[in-house]
Amino acid sequence: MSATMYYEADANPMLVNQRKVAVLGFGSQGHAHALNLKESGVDVAVGLRPGSHRESTASDAGLTVMTPAAAAAWANLTMVLVPDQFQGSLYHEAIAPTLQDGDALFFAHGFNIHYGYVTPPDSIDVAMVAPKGPGHLVRRQYQAGSGVPALVAIHQDATGSAKDLALSYAHGIGATRAGVIETTFKAETETDLFGEQVILCGGVDEMIRAAFETLTEAGYEPEMAYFEVLHELKLIVDLLFEGGLSWMRYSVSDTAEYGDVSRGPRIVTEQTRATMREILGEIQSGAFAKEWMAEVAAGTPNLLAARRAVADHDIEKVGSGLRDMMPFLVAKTPEDDQ
Ligand code: NAD
Ligand code: MG
Repeated sequence: MSATMYYEADANPMLVNQRKVAVLGFGSQGHAHALNLKESGVDVAVGLRPGSHRESTASDAGLTVMTPAAAAAWANLTMVLVPDQFQGSLYHEAIAPTLQDGDALFFAHGFNIHYGYVTPPDSIDVAMVAPKGPGHLVRRQYQAGSGVPALVAIHQDATGSAKDLALSYAHGIGATRAGVIETTFKAETETDLFGEQVILCGGVDEMIRAAFETLTEAGYEPEMAYFEVLHELKLIVDLLFEGGLSWMRYSVSDTAEYGDVSRGPRIVTEQTRATMREILGEIQSGAFAKEWMAEVAAGTPNLLAARRAVADHDIEKVGSGLRDMMPFLVAKTPEDDQ
C-alpha cells in the first residue's frame, strides 16, 4: 500500500482564486496560510476574535481582518486554524449559521471531524489541507519559492470537485511545490495523535527527564546532564531528518552505534511496545479525544499543573542558564510568543 502523491501540474490554481477564503485564526498555521494565499492572488480575509492581539499583525501585513462569524459569512471557503479544542464551539457559534450549499469547510487537522465534534451539513465540501511542518516554515519556504509537503483528505464531496479545490488550496500555500499526499481524516488524526503521544512529545519529553534525573541522582553535574540528554538531541534528530536511521548510525562513533544497538532494546522493551498499542487503542476508540475534551471543559487543570511542574524542574533551571551562554541559539520561552 503506497500513498497517492500530487504535484504542481495536478493542481488548478484558478479554483481557489475563484473563491472567497476566510482563514480563522492567525497563529502558527493561520498567518502562513493567509499570507501565502494572498500572495498567490487569492481573495482572503482573516477571522479573529475582537481585541485579539494578532489583529494589528494581520492588518499591518495588508490582510483584511473581520470577526470569525463575519469572515465565515463573507467567505465560501472557510479554513479553520484555531486550536483544535476550540474548533467545536467556534463552528457552532460562528461558522454553522453562515454555511450555504456548495461552500467548503477546510481543516489542517482531522480531530474535530473525525471524532464528530463538528458535523457539517451534507451540502458542503469538507476537506483537509495539512502542511507537514510548523507555520513559520510554511511561510518561509513559500517566500523562498519552495514549499512544505502537505496532506490532503476529503471527508465530504458535495460539489464533486472537493479534491480539486483542496489541491488548488494546497497550490496556493505552496505545498504542491514540494508534494501533496492523499490520506483520510481517520488516518491523519490517528497517526498524528499517536506520533505526538508516544515519541515526538510524550516519549521524548519523558525520556529526557528520566535520563537527566538518573545522571543527577548519581551525582553528575546538572550542566553535564543537560548537554548530554537534551542539547545533543538536536544533533541526532538533524541526522535522522537528513538521512534516516542509517545515516545517523553512520555518522555517530562506532562506540555510540554499538551502545545504540545493544542498549536501545533494553529501553524500549516488549512492555513499551504493548503500551504503545494500548495508547493507539485509546486513540482509535475515541477514549483519548473524550478525555481531552473533558479536560478542556474543566479548564485544563491537569495541563496547567503539568506546565507548572515542568517549569520548576531542575532541567529547566539549568537549561535556561546554559542557553544564555550560547548566543547562537535563538532562546525561546512561552512568554516570548505572547
Ligand atoms: P495556534 O495556537 O498557533 O493559533 C491559533 C489561533 O487561533 C491564534 O490566532 C489564536 O488567537 C486564535 N484563537 C484561539 N482561540 C480562538 C477562539 N476561541 N476563537 C477564535 N480564534 C481563536 O494554532 P496552530 O498551531 O496554528 O493550529 C491551528 C490548526 O492547525 C490546528 O488544527 C492544528 O492541529 C493544525 N496544525 C498545526 C501545525 C503546527 O505545526 N502548529 C501543523 C499542522 C496542522
Ligand atoms: Mg459564507
